[in-house]
Amino acid sequence: MRISKVGVIGAGTMGNGIAQVCASSGFDVTLVDVSEQALSRAMSVMNSSLDRMVNKGVIDEYARSEALKRIRTSTGIESLSGVDLVIEAASEAESVKGAIINKVDEIVSDSAIIASNTSSISITKLAAASRKPERVVGMHFFNPVPVMKLVEIIAGLQTSEQTLTAVTAFTADIKKTSINVKNSAGFAVNRILVPMINEAVFVLQEGIASAEDIDQGMRLGCNHVIGPLALADLIGLDTLLAVMEVFYDRFNDSKYRPAPLLKEMVEAGYLGRKSGRGFYSYENC
Ligand code: NAD
Repeated sequence: MRISKVGVIGAGTMGNGIAQVCASSGFDVTLVDVSEQALSRAMSVMNSSLDRMVNKGVIDEYARSEALKRIRTSTGIESLSGVDLVIEAASEAESVKGAIINKVDEIVSDSAIIASNTSSISITKLAAASRKPERVVGMHFFNPVPVMKLVEIIAGLQTSEQTLTAVTAFTADIKKTSINVKNSAGFAVNRILVPMINEAVFVLQEGIASAEDIDQGMRLGCNHVIGPLALADLIGLDTLLAVMEVFYDRFNDSKYRPAPLLKEMVEAGYLGRKSGRGFYSYENC
């Protein structure tokens, strides 16, 4: 099947990056969020991101304005009728995603594919919320989407070969590289990455080193391009906590318990870059 129109649900950190990348690759994009404020923030984030690309000579002014022209925003999920692929990138909660899939099912054609960008929730479980479970698949993008090359493609038990073939081709069309991963909590990359970040929070909480030293240690000692706590701020502390809670619940293993400091920071609303404060302050950024 040919994909030309894409719907993205959730205009937060990931949704706006996914919308930008799809539009930059020539796809018409409808970006949907329940929050008008999230949509206008997303437009301004995409504007700035494309501006930076023009300034760095990655794209020209024409490509920038063409990409922006291909994106429309809406607070009504009904605006997704007629899209060939829906990429769900709403908040990491099973109830939210299940309800979205239910609703999308009523709106899109039977041939449309529904992909979830979930970081940790079972694709098999999400597919079970759909009338057409064979058309549900995981497409796990990485943050920041315009920069990061990888997409993990995850087949649920019900996902058809045809769906996998279509999203693999689409991933190449948006100039990303895909890897195929089995449906397991956190898939491959987050299963390794998120417990590492959680452990960095334990190291901070136990006073073993400061946030700056932990990050410096991992950059200079392990050649990571970004320290785990700065990365936590980029990802969003609420998202990380949700992922650890899924691991803890799913694997029933105490090694996945979320760090108490991570929980407390989320309770305080210190969510990282998106709230202006996390392990570092971004109030003047
Ligand atoms: P976010 O909190 O930045 O944005 C989520 C957006 O979803 C918000 O704007 C919210 O208003 C919107 N939303 C909530 N319920 C909705 C609904 N019913 N309909 C439409 N919009 C709705 O979250 P995020 O970091 O962009 O994460 C989104 C998804 O991507 C999550 O599943 C997360 O696990 C996954 N993910 C996140 C990262 C990351 O680094 N942040 C990386 C890969 C995958």
